[in-house]
Amino acid sequence: METHAKVVIIGGGVVGCSILFHLAKFGWKDCVLLERNELASGSSWHAAGQIHTISSDPNISRLQGYTINLYKEIEAVSGHSVGMHNTGGFYLASNQDWYDYLKRERSKARYMGLDQEFISLEEVARLHPLIDPKQYVAALWDPLDGDVDPSGVTYAYAKAARVHGASYHTHTPVIETRQRADGSWDVVTEKGTINAEHIVNAGGLWAREVGLLSGLHLPVQPMEHHYLITDAIPEIEARDERLPAGIDYEGNMYFRQEGKGMLLGTYEPVATPWSVNGTPQSFGHELLEPQLDHIAERLELGFQRIPALERAGIKDIINGPFTFGPDGNPMIGPVPGMRNYWTAVAVMAGFCQAGGVGLCLAEWMINGEPSIDVWAMDIARFGDYASPDYGTIKSTENYERRFILTFPNETLPRGRCQKTTSLYDRLSARGAVWGDAFGLESALWFANDPEDAFEEPTFRRSRAHDYIAGEVKAVRENVGAIEIANFAKHRFRGPEARVFLDHVMAGSIPGPGRISLSPMLTPKGKLYGDLTVACLDQQDFLILGSGVAQEMHRRWFEQQLAGFEVMYSNDSSQLHGIAIAGPKARELLSRITRDDVSSEAFRFRDIRQTFVAGVPAILTRLSFSGELGYEIYVAPEYQLKLYQTIVEQGEDLGIKFYGARALMSLRLEKNWGVWTLDFRPDFSAAESGLDVFINWDKDFIGKQAALAESKQGPAKRLVAMIVETDDIDVSNDEAILKDGECVGYVTSGGYAHSVGQSMALGYVPVELAQAETALEIEIMGDMYAARVIDKPLYDPAGNKMRN
Ligand SMILES: Cc1cc2nc3c(=O)[nH]c(=O)nc-3n(C[C@H](O)[C@H](O)[C@H](O)COP(=O)(O)OP(=O)(O)OC[C@H]3O[C@@H](n4cnc5c(N)ncnc54)[C@H](O)[C@@H]3O)c2cc1C
Repeated sequence: METHAKVVIIGGGVVGCSILFHLAKFGWKDCVLLERNELASGSSWHAAGQIHTISSDPNISRLQGYTINLYKEIEAVSGHSVGMHNTGGFYLASNQDWYDYLKRERSKARYMGLDQEFISLEEVARLHPLIDPKQYVAALWDPLDGDVDPSGVTYAYAKAARVHGASYHTHTPVIETRQRADGSWDVVTEKGTINAEHIVNAGGLWAREVGLLSGLHLPVQPMEHHYLITDAIPEIEARDERLPAGIDYEGNMYFRQEGKGMLLGTYEPVATPWSVNGTPQSFGHELLEPQLDHIAERLELGFQRIPALERAGIKDIINGPFTFGPDGNPMIGPVPGMRNYWTAVAVMAGFCQAGGVGLCLAEWMINGEPSIDVWAMDIARFGDYASPDYGTIKSTENYERRFILTFPNETLPRGRCQKTTSLYDRLSARGAVWGDAFGLESALWFANDPEDAFEEPTFRRSRAHDYIAGEVKAVRENVGAIEIANFAKHRFRGPEARVFLDHVMAGSIPGPGRISLSPMLTPKGKLYGDLTVACLDQQDFLILGSGVAQEMHRRWFEQQLAGFEVMYSNDSSQLHGIAIAGPKARELLSRITRDDVSSEAFRFRDIRQTFVAGVPAILTRLSFSGELGYEIYVAPEYQLKLYQTIVEQGEDLGIKFYGARALMSLRLEKNWGVWTLDFRPDFSAAESGLDVFINWDKDFIGKQAALAESKQGPAKRLVAMIVETDDIDVSNDEAILKDGECVGYVTSGGYAHSVGQSMALGYVPVELAQAETALEIEIMGDMYAARVIDKPLYDPAGNKMRN
């Protein structure tokens, strides 16, 4: 066996083999995969092998399309059959909500270049005569869907990887992973030790155990899963053509032809986590005891949908475990806080996703960044709150919701209150409706009282609409207060803090007491952050950013820190706080601090360390609402005092607490984008308009690429649009059309309450990014007129926040 490798991949399931294939194909030949048993010994061998493109995240859908299209290539390169049946498949809606959902999926598919079309129920019955079409109201057809042979795929990846120069060893369990001082890893097996620059945990069912070898606790959980295979069905025996595949959303079921019978799989209504305390090392090519009572109800429904199933005998019932992550999506990438340790775990639909996972991970390792935004799969979207217990609770929830729709205004109930602040009970008493972001409960909006604090999931405007209108009005006319514990706070201290920030940030780094906005770019010029940079003093900087992206940014900062004399810490949990905004915000602030906060003494974009409400605070003059506003950051133990003081002193000023939904509305009418939606690595500074903050007079990461793009001009641009709607607003991912052709998609939007308009932000070709350009946006299957605007609808000159 080798003694050195660039990369060692631990685990020869479909995911590990795909990564090995992609690394070798892209030129890293010196890569080795170690498998404890035979290839495909974990969950991969007993998969149902059904393949489809639909996913909650558009980029994952795109990668699923890539995965399916890759099968021909790995078959050709390896000479090993993947057993592909490209039958096409239906997504079947049995009620109006599901039909609405499919209309939204269809809209997404337009710009993803996926070829999905609604077909009539007569067409469903023609293509699949065993389905009872009366059970459904609509069907979306995807010609890419079908099925593959799971073992065939896994071997084809591995053999194709060998053809490209990589190697793999079976019956070689990894028993230890030890990191050397230079950051490389000694990967220990009974056959010898390989020193590797990087290691990849692709341990699938044993991802947790492989993680623990390096002290990593992964929040993933294997779940039991059933599918059954029927005896031959005469109607199928009589056919020459293979039946299409299908997904029945209400039944949380998938089905396809298997031999001359059918395969029907279902995600049980009450899921069973398997081996919660760890996957036994002795578990091999085994299945679990079927629990027919767990799936009986779903089978009944299956029999209604496909009556021939009831008449057919059951040949086989498979109950096998496979691994889920907390939100049902894969967890891939370099692990924050670790060096040269990568994961590709929680890939729960390996035969739809492993190709995309392998592609992105290989690009990331070789080029330093993937070619598309992989946020929805990035392991850094979770933090330390995502404990193993949390993983089990959330994986169970996601398993049960596998094909269940989540409405745009819906929050999932399990694993909640993982992190709360001292205001949780106070704000609950005020009627807060909570959402969780990065494990922390944050108020979304406020009802009149706790009994009234509930949401009704819908694709249309919800009952929260009028409450949010009231919050926006308070901010625009009096003063509003919002908890800001959920913002990320990164601290940089030391003699080279400024030099470092000048290197990683594309914008200007402010002088002491001042704040600036800055994009952060990747070497390829893609956005990697839009951050607020504050200078507390020459050697002490506070960077404020997206709370959910805090570990992603921490990882990025730590990767760049080598060689700089800088102390970095992610202080997000150490600084909580409250922001106040509105025309009466200065009056309120002046009542709770001894400082002179007049407009001359404390200017827009000033920052200082002082006392507010009698407690130590970092006070900034900033607001994401577009109003005169202040963000007051305090240590968690001072937050209650700050809150009480603000409530007491703000009462006669009409103070009202507002939540994240109102903040999103306030920023929309200022045409401001947000991280993870409008700003993300799919876009560049010039495309997003954040290039206005670039300081071209210095060197910074991504400058060459950004310069080249600015010389040439971007092909597309982020625009704000007014949308002519009635009782519905965009959420995100809707197609934008010009003369019937899809030209872009919505990145965010909603109702702009104080200006009374429905709005959307999205990227369109530059020639359409002109004020007054008439476009259309497809919302739930209907086309709505949209008009590009080039100035914010509220306070276009920005006087309110500056004066
Ligand atoms: C019943 C069932 C039906 C399914 N149906 C579908 C479907 O229709 N479509 C679909 O896309 N997906 C389906 N799946 C999911 C799919 O099987 C998984 O997504 C996929 O197998 C995950 O692959 P993996 O490589 O991550 O993990 P695994 O297949 O579990 O591979 C991990 C590998 O790592 C090895 N390993 C572990 N520890 C070590 C160590 N210390 N040293 C060396 N090697 C180690 C293991 O032996 C194993 O081979 C199904 C799963 C089940 C259980």
